[in-house]
Amino acid sequence: MPYQDCCKNGHPWTPENTKRQNKKLTKRRCRTCSNIEQNKLTARVKAETIAAYGNRCACCGETEIAFLSIDHKFGGGNEHRRSLKRIGGKAFYYWLKRQGYPQDDYQVLCHNCNQAKSAYGICPHQAELPFAEAA
Ligand SMILES: [Zn+2]
Ligand SMILES: [Zn+2]
Ligand SMILES: [Zn+2]
Repeated sequence: MPYQDCCKNGHPWTPENTKRQNKKLTKRRCRTCSNIEQNKLTARVKAETIAAYGNRCACCGETEIAFLSIDHKFGGGNEHRRSLKRIGGKAFYYWLKRQGYPQDDYQVLCHNCNQAKSAYGICPHQAELPFAEAA
């Protein structure tokens, strides 16, 4: 193998851009490529998870995946999510997959509905009108 000063995608082998996969591997991995790969992987597993939960916000029907995330229906997910967050956001999606996508406890919500639910306990979409915003 001839010496290369950039990875196969042309990113330079600078120390900041060099990542050792693990101690056994001597092959250096470009950090930029690795990040791109990770982001793609996260996007894919997220899309898979959102699809398993109906592909739309359970509250308002929003279908733009950038706005969607998985919500724990009864709010009990915070502590669990926090513990999963330490190993990265996609760990939560993998965890759901391993559980067979439990439909009783989780649903898809868009950020609006999710925020409203955590701020007011209920999304204005589901509230009796007029909805009084808590001061
Ligand atoms: Zn690269
Ligand atoms: Zn919504
Ligand atoms: Zn809503």
